[in-house]
Amino acid sequence: MRLALFDLDGTLVDRRSALADAIANLSHDHGYGPEIEQWLMTELADRADASDFERLRATFHVNESAEHLWRVYIDRLAAAVTCRPEVLEALRRLKAASWGIGVATNGSSDIQRAKVRTTGLADLVDGIAASGDIDVRKPDPRLFELAAARCGTQLTPTDWMIGDNPETDIVGAQRAGLRAVWVRGRPWPDGLTAPHHTVDDIVEAIDYLLTHSPE
Ligand SMILES: [Mg+2]
Repeated sequence: MRLALFDLDGTLVDRRSALADAIANLSHDHGYGPEIEQWLMTELADRADASDFERLRATFHVNESAEHLWRVYIDRLAAAVTCRPEVLEALRRLKAASWGIGVATNGSSDIQRAKVRTTGLADLVDGIAASGDIDVRKPDPRLFELAAARCGTQLTPTDWMIGDNPETDIVGAQRAGLRAVWVRGRPWPDGLTAPHHTVDDIVEAIDYLLTHSPE
């Protein structure tokens, strides 16, 4: 089986726009003012976990428990995050061509899995490895190995990783012995080994695999 591993946030789904919606929603529902809303936007900009809401409580003395706020945040973010229909369609083409499809993501297990469910990706993805599962983060090769295992296979040098982050996704893939497609969107850092291929959009990346990776 040919295997394609994908990053989730910023690659398969647009977390950034969903984050603003989710935080506005959570703040409104709890009567939080702009100060808390801005704090959340800053603190959760890259990633979030339950401990962020402990820090929120310590900073602003809100009444709600951190556990409650984390649950609400997961619900709101998962509801706001989307995977574009043309991306789902491209993944369907990949699956129809007998590729295995995995997700290797740095993030809490519960929220990353909620996103995969609500976006419709769950029907297309064979296995998910979230860094929160094993406390190992990309670029550590073990997260890519876990993703392959969750897809019922092992990494081989002809497998691919597709992601938007040069350090975690592309360098990580190279360390794990994978080929890599970088979904551009930021400058390529000096000194890093270039990816095998670069695209401007995830659909382009999937079409590249379909046309350039022989059986
Ligand atoms: Mg990403």
